[in-house]
Amino acid sequence: MPSYPGSFPKSRQLFERARKVMPGGNTRTTVYIDPFPIYAERGEGCRVWDVDGNVFYDCINNFTSMIHGYAQPEAVAAVNAQMPHGSAFGAPTLREIELAELLVDRLPSADQIRFANSGTEAVMMAIKAARAFTDRPKIVKIEGAYHGSYDFAEVSLDSAPANWGDMPNSTAYARGTPRGVLDDVIAVPFNDAEAAEAVFSAHGAEIAAVLIDPMPNRAGLIPARRDYLERLVKAAHAAGALVIFDEVISFRLGYSGAQGLWDITPDLTALGKIIGGGFPVGAIAGRAEVMAVFDPTRGKPALPHGGTFTANPVTMRAGIAAMQALTRDSFAHLDALGETLREGTNAALKKHGLPGSCVGLGSLFKLHFTDNPISDYRSVYPSAKEKTKLDRFHKGLLDRGVLSASYGLFALSTPMTVADAEAILAAIDDTLAEVARA
Ligand code: PMP
Repeated sequence: MPSYPGSFPKSRQLFERARKVMPGGNTRTTVYIDPFPIYAERGEGCRVWDVDGNVFYDCINNFTSMIHGYAQPEAVAAVNAQMPHGSAFGAPTLREIELAELLVDRLPSADQIRFANSGTEAVMMAIKAARAFTDRPKIVKIEGAYHGSYDFAEVSLDSAPANWGDMPNSTAYARGTPRGVLDDVIAVPFNDAEAAEAVFSAHGAEIAAVLIDPMPNRAGLIPARRDYLERLVKAAHAAGALVIFDEVISFRLGYSGAQGLWDITPDLTALGKIIGGGFPVGAIAGRAEVMAVFDPTRGKPALPHGGTFTANPVTMRAGIAAMQALTRDSFAHLDALGETLREGTNAALKKHGLPGSCVGLGSLFKLHFTDNPISDYRSVYPSAKEKTKLDRFHKGLLDRGVLSASYGLFALSTPMTVADAEAILAAIDDTLAEVARA
């Protein structure tokens, strides 16, 4: 059994080299692990090999985006077919229409689509579209929910007991965040309809939109209650505000995303990750009346939006290949794997006498080492002791050949078989035994 960090000398060397040319050797905060990240060499199906020759089951899948794992044959063929003909043009191509048609077909809430290059950009443009449509400044978001790097979307992302105060409250994520940004974002607790209704009663006339991920990963990967979403939509619409679903991750929950599962119709949806077939992507989807803010055919649009690599045909073709391969059967397969792992992990926690629970839906699950009733970000905010357990769990899984996110998130992929899920579960069980002994 390899042992992190000792069995990873080449990754250590690469990190030392990276430190000279990148701040902290890093160009993506989310992939850093202490004392150094594991450098990937190649991936195939649900497995990744690192530069030291260690092999892992990949349960991160590039933070949920590689729903077909690595080197999906259809996406490889699509990209190889496009590359000899050029990868990006200062002109639209047929491929953006094809991917837009496919997505509109899957999302009943969407009449139209607008592409972007990342989930961050998709969320940013959705917020700006809501502002442009309503001519209002404020947004409401969920405490602890991650939506990418737009200033407004980052508010109250990592609120902590020392600064979170009474809700609603707005805390800065990055140093130097302008006061005006905090003033225009109202953070509310997840799954609390009364709190959201109170905010809309008090500030409704100034609110452009509520931004919500129906199962926010960083806020605990706790599924929204349907009645909560219904009341949230009602309160927003009564105030003349829009509802933006961030489905950058949750679109991997079902054929029509989380909104299909919950049967809720947002005004706008931010997409990303899986829709690009492994390439940088984002999209804003919504009803035509709102999407008209982007329309340049009648003079300057209410919301101009460019992007040099937006809708490039490589991303579009990879995305089409990935989405076509993601059938209703794929979701049934992913749901079954997810259920096996959630149930098995909960049973393992019990067996080893550890407090905690494994939450999530479909192909996503997350471990919390707390026995508190779980409802929102604050209820799963880890204590120092729980953080130590999470760290042990994460590193123990690395030693057993399973990659997961350092904060306890797992994302499965379609090439995983039942036997793979059982092997992952055995590694989780063994690691939890080690955590219990520590
Ligand atoms: N929204 C959610 C829910 C996300 O999880 C992420 C990224 N993890 C984003 C938005 C931002 O997407 P990107 O990293 O592509 O900018």
